[in-house]
Amino acid sequence: MPTLKNYIGGEWVASATTTFGDVWRPASGEKIARVPYSTAADLDRAVTAAQEAYWDWRTTPPLSRARYLFRMKEVFEANFEEIARTLTTEQGKAIDEARGEVRRMIENVEHATGVTTLMTGYCLEDIAKDIDCYAERQPMGVFAAIAPYNFPAMVPWWFLPYAIVCGNTFVLKPSEQVPLTQTKVFELIDEEVGLPEGVLNLVHGSREVVSAILEHPGIAGVSFVGSTPTARLVYERCGATGKRVQSLGGAKNCVVLMPDADLKAALPSLVTSFYGCSGQRCLAGSLLVPVGEAADQVVEAFKAASSAVRVGDGLDESMNMGPVVSAAHMQRVLNYIEKGLAEGARLVLDGRGCRPAGCENGFFVGPTVFDHVTPDMTIAKEEIFGPVVAIVRAKDLDEAITLVNSRGFANSACIYTQSGKAVRQFKYRAKPSMIGVNIGIAAPMSFFPFGGAGQSMFGDLKGHGREIFQFFTDTKVVITRW
Ligand code: NAD
Repeated sequence: MPTLKNYIGGEWVASATTTFGDVWRPASGEKIARVPYSTAADLDRAVTAAQEAYWDWRTTPPLSRARYLFRMKEVFEANFEEIARTLTTEQGKAIDEARGEVRRMIENVEHATGVTTLMTGYCLEDIAKDIDCYAERQPMGVFAAIAPYNFPAMVPWWFLPYAIVCGNTFVLKPSEQVPLTQTKVFELIDEEVGLPEGVLNLVHGSREVVSAILEHPGIAGVSFVGSTPTARLVYERCGATGKRVQSLGGAKNCVVLMPDADLKAALPSLVTSFYGCSGQRCLAGSLLVPVGEAADQVVEAFKAASSAVRVGDGLDESMNMGPVVSAAHMQRVLNYIEKGLAEGARLVLDGRGCRPAGCENGFFVGPTVFDHVTPDMTIAKEEIFGPVVAIVRAKDLDEAITLVNSRGFANSACIYTQSGKAVRQFKYRAKPSMIGVNIGIAAPMSFFPFGGAGQSMFGDLKGHGREIFQFFTDTKVVITRW
């Protein structure tokens, strides 16, 4: 079983730690690697390497920096399937979803190559007699990102390509639960891209190394994605140590079905919304909110579609849904099902005891549907992050919007309807930052921003889009008289 190494200053180096975690294949319940829980000394070594690389990299013209990204795209395309299979092996999601994720990762590389347009500043002559002014964007030094387990390929690349193309150097800490995908990606960069040493560094680990990132005076800013309690902690600690920070947290997303929605057309995307990645997506539907009298019909149709989801090993092309990431997370999701029952919700589809043939030791929960959930029940309030759907019936659009806005989280909300008026009301009044209209997952492309509001995001500048070029640069204003 391999023990992973860190990638620092262009070399693969063993961590100084004596503490290691296990990496699992969730479909089979087997251990497949050991990941080091790196120390503050490991992190310091990576930051030093990134600092040493900074000046040469910062003075490399932006277009030359972008050429390394063009090369990365070629290399990732050539190794697309291997990256996707590594991802499914350690994370569990269906292989087609993994392919979609790797595609999104590459799209961020593509978007970042627009640096020569997207990093530019602006100027104005004659702000006073004979005085001109311009504002330019400058890189800031070393940035770090801390990633969650659910999108091992894509999420780090919401930040990484933009940080380096702007002239910064970078340290990535992947989730300790899924460290193999970025290890594979960094191996490819190391072997085939020829990036100068120290521009990109990879440090594995858990809380200790996160603390070291948050405290290190050599790190200018941190991008975090994960659960809300950790996101809040990261935001507060970066504030205390004076770092720039964008910290994306958890979610509890509502999908509202108006009475005029085309249910038949909606069903495939509803199924993907709630069960894609086994519900382990920050944009996953969590509450299904049928509005008005058609609710019984919605529940029946959704239950039937849910029962048809094929659950099994994500590497099996015929499966729609894989396992959840770990035994501990499976137990957490099962506990929520018990909680739903204890609080009086009606279980109409039971995903407990799901044991797909050939995967008897895997970490599976089948599609689970609760009807007659009320807004105050635990399963309607807390992020479950599994394939558990809570149906909360609403009498009208107002009640549905009130529900959306009372969840605390505000990542995304979706509405299915044929009414433009209802859509306008919804997008105007709903708090979440990403709104889907007749779409179950409101996932923007790399050239639009990604991030939530409320308890779903701390900080102001979101991931990718145009804003990310602001996050990774300081605006220097120069006022001149000649
Ligand atoms: P997590 O918060 O447990 O872990 C995220 C990262 O933080 C990991 O790298 C982990 O090592 C580190 N970490 C965890 N606990 C820590 C602590 N106490 N101190 C310091 N570091 C700590 O999140 P997860 O379980 O890996 O990911 C799932 C969560 O991420 C869900 O809540 C999901 O909604 C959220 N998520 C949000 C988005 C978004 O865009 N808003 C995207 C993906 C996932």
